[in-house]
Amino acid sequence: MEYKLTSKAYYEALKQDKLLGLKCRPCGAVSVPPVMVCRQCSSQDLDIVELKGSGTIRTFTAVFVAAEGREGECPYIVALVELDEGPWLMGNLDGIDPKAASMELIGKKVKMGHKVFPGDKYSAGEGVSPLFNLID
Ligand SMILES: [Zn+2]
Repeated sequence: MEYKLTSKAYYEALKQDKLLGLKCRPCGAVSVPPVMVCRQCSSQDLDIVELKGSGTIRTFTAVFVAAEGREGECPYIVALVELDEGPWLMGNLDGIDPKAASMELIGKKVKMGHKVFPGDKYSAGEGVSPLFNLID
């Protein structure tokens, strides 16, 4: 078995604000980030699709205590977003003061961009992750 969509291709696309997922031919479920088999039916018959990158905040947490080497990034908000195509994706939420974040964020619509993180002693180099902004 091999990955149809590699992590490398996924992250390279993310750096250009493109969100790639995998759509299952038999059942239609969309998976993101990359998987080897469909998250619903375990089929390997998957097609690469570009997702809209928009969705709804389902939950979030505000982080005030940094992981080692990430002290300069605090405070920040991590949100779990249900994408319009179905899968849930975690990413940082931009444009909201973490100290002022409230439960009113849940259910808000967001659009995805990306954020590049510098490498640290635990990683092989810089990384990239989804960065969400509220749509109003
Ligand atoms: Zn499937």
